[in-house]
Amino acid sequence: MSGSDALTAAGAAPFGGCSTAPVLRERGQHEVFCGLTGIIWLHRKIQDAFFLVVGSRTCAHLIQSAAGVMIFAEPRFGTAIMEEKDLAGLADMNDELDKVVDRLLSRRPDIKLLFLVGSCPSEVIKLDLARAASRLSRRHAPDVKILAYSGSGIETTFTQGEDACLAALVPTMPYEEPQDPPSLLVVGALAEVVEDQLRRVFDEMGVGPVKFLPPRRADELPSVGPNTRMLLAQPFLGDTTRLLEARGAQRLVAPFPLGVEGTTAWLAAAARAWGVPAERFRAATEPRAERARRALSRLRTELEGKKIFFFPDSQMEIPLARFVSRELGMKLTEVGTPYLHRQHLAPELELLPAGAQLSEGQDVERQLDRCRAAHPDLVVCGLGLANPLEAEGTATKWSIELLFTPVQGYEQAADLAELFARPLRRRAQLKVA
Ligand code: SF4
Repeated sequence: MSGSDALTAAGAAPFGGCSTAPVLRERGQHEVFCGLTGIIWLHRKIQDAFFLVVGSRTCAHLIQSAAGVMIFAEPRFGTAIMEEKDLAGLADMNDELDKVVDRLLSRRPDIKLLFLVGSCPSEVIKLDLARAASRLSRRHAPDVKILAYSGSGIETTFTQGEDACLAALVPTMPYEEPQDPPSLLVVGALAEVVEDQLRRVFDEMGVGPVKFLPPRRADELPSVGPNTRMLLAQPFLGDTTRLLEARGAQRLVAPFPLGVEGTTAWLAAAARAWGVPAERFRAATEPRAERARRALSRLRTELEGKKIFFFPDSQMEIPLARFVSRELGMKLTEVGTPYLHRQHLAPELELLPAGAQLSEGQDVERQLDRCRAAHPDLVVCGLGLANPLEAEGTATKWSIELLFTPVQGYEQAADLAELFARPLRRRAQLKVA
């Protein structure tokens, strides 16, 4: 099924489209967080997992300061800090690491899945964390499974941490039995409230069994095989998808479940794969879609005609641009993305208004010049750019908030729009005061 078919089924009409639009490619200095950041939302998802960053004090500070303001829970992450003597090769890092892991696991018997997360320093000294993970897994089996992935900041963007983490899980997923019925695998971390809402819609449509990756508990890792149909919940899961496809899973082509239109088209892709009658699909989706449209209409009044500029940061920029332009009437100036995964984003590109400037990668100074010249009402960017732009009088939205906030599905469509409306309201109040 092509992207267009999936959309037509959901009643979404492409308007113009950017599938073949020229893309400005830049390979200059970029301002992004590293993949360690993913731990901040992932540690809340798999409740019996622990993320042990093998890194420097800088890595520890990044995680603590990012997490410190965002979570109030029993920590499920920590840093094994590499000292100067480790970096100089004066200590056997593997021995040190084994001791840290042994101490952690004896103190925390609730941990069933431990991720050793690589960082720039561990990569610089070529510490082989994959080998360490298999050595430690043998030592702590069967109670604890130990895996490794890299969250290093070199040439990555912060959402790639989730991709690397889920990709590390794929080889440990059980094999589907040949007699198993087709199942739906939703891939990408979603808030539990969103998972529950989506599960109810799938149940009403008669689509299932439905499984989620990542699961809520380490022992709930779903099986995968040729009878698995997968729907991507996030646009930044290139490596995970490739590994799942190598296990036989088939990706259902759909836009991402942001806004009413995206959610309907995403659900329609599953409905088509399961042969759900149109009437049953409408009964499950239309009342929810209608409520969401009503909730959005108030925000559309506020946001319509406002110009928005996306700096490349979260890799969610293209689906977000589609949502704000089509459902909120905002005007796109530039839509930057760190990577443009053409295959996964094809249905989204078809829906973007023709004429939107797309850019991939970053040359931060040049992009700032373009941003200033465009005079946008709102800029979506990383934390590093937000402060200077605010100081210049431009309203900004931190793109990382879109990962911490439940934004997918019908019930969250208005919350997602709120995230764009709030900075504009705040700035309007500042002007009045
Ligand atoms: Fe900095 Fe690299 Fe550590 Fe990330 S992994 S905090 S970029 S040193």
